[in-house]
Amino acid sequence: MPGHNSRLRWLGQALAALVLVIGAAGPWGSAAWGTGARPGAAQKEAPAASAGAAKEDDEVRLGRQAAAALEREYKLVRNVQQLARLRRIGEEIAAVSDEPGYRYTFKILDTEEVNALSLPGGFTYVTKGMLSYVRSDEELAGVLAHEIAHAAKHHVRDLRRRESAANQYVIIGVLSALLLGRLHSSGLGNMLFGAEIVKTAYLNQYGQEAETEADRAGVEYLIKTGKYNPVGILTVIERLARDEERQAGPQLGVFRTHPPGRQRVEALESYLRAQNVSINRRAVQDQLRASARDTSTDDRSAAQVRLGEEVIYETAAGLPEAQRVAARLSQLILDGAEMRDVRVADDEVTVTLRGEALFSVTPADAALVGKPAAEVAQAAARTIAHLLWRAFVEQVS
Ligand SMILES: [Zn+2]
Repeated sequence: MPGHNSRLRWLGQALAALVLVIGAAGPWGSAAWGTGARPGAAQKEAPAASAGAAKEDDEVRLGRQAAAALEREYKLVRNVQQLARLRRIGEEIAAVSDEPGYRYTFKILDTEEVNALSLPGGFTYVTKGMLSYVRSDEELAGVLAHEIAHAAKHHVRDLRRRESAANQYVIIGVLSALLLGRLHSSGLGNMLFGAEIVKTAYLNQYGQEAETEADRAGVEYLIKTGKYNPVGILTVIERLARDEERQAGPQLGVFRTHPPGRQRVEALESYLRAQNVSINRRAVQDQLRASARDTSTDDRSAAQVRLGEEVIYETAAGLPEAQRVAARLSQLILDGAEMRDVRVADDEVTVTLRGEALFSVTPADAALVGKPAAEVAQAAARTIAHLLWRAFVEQVS
């Protein structure tokens, strides 16, 4: 029975779709920005029997089915470290969300597509591509906060309530496709966009409202964690919006549920300001964070100063000196230092930033790498300048 068959397939697609690829066009991000008490991870708290029963409602069941469909379609990444990071951050946010009682799950879809999605009931996914795309825990937290907000704010349930039973799967499929900002990208987009529906202005309207609410609620959750700087949401959306512009994909027209990138970015910026969040994009970029690493061996004492993944230089003065330099370097960058502010002083061994002596390469430091001190200083200055330049080019500064 071909009819029956194709209908099943269609239903399967719709279900998978209902998946709410809500995250898509790129909303989200966040960053460490303060300390504060935070509640323990909430999701462990299996609700008591009665509450649990209440939560396993139609909505959660639907989400569970869609999750199963999705996981038949996509392989999951089982990397222990990546999953631990994802769950740690996800659970911290879920605990302060509007629905802390859900049993949230956080999984990684094995695709290079940059995306994230959330299903009713708290089944949350990010793609492998998204994990590579984010530049800090704060940005990942922003993505997750946005997705968690869709579940915690019951966006799918509310959408379904607006529609007749007959339209529900269709609607959900459409919404998912719509919310998937990057329809032109493969994979998820194709699967979800399978249905050619026509529903629209209204769906559009709802979709935009849902996106705006998810962005805002995401910011609120992040603030509540007292740990993740919500500016991370902003920086991810900005980069995704920029990438979309460059890609010049198909015009989405009425199907464009995600607010156009720039408008969305501006709305977020205003919202962050209204929440008294200070917007410093550099604060949520690991590549612009300096750190110190002890590299001592039995024979010698030494420590590296790093900026992001790059080694700036190694000092024989040990870890405390490396930490001092790293802290000062981070601060000067946060304060807005640019590539042109990086110099080597007249003594040829002192690296300065904004006219301030950051460190001097000593003969002992130079001996560690077997090069002249002046050469080491030059290389260090070049590396710092290069990273600042890259940040500028990538518009995160
Ligand atoms: Zn969304």
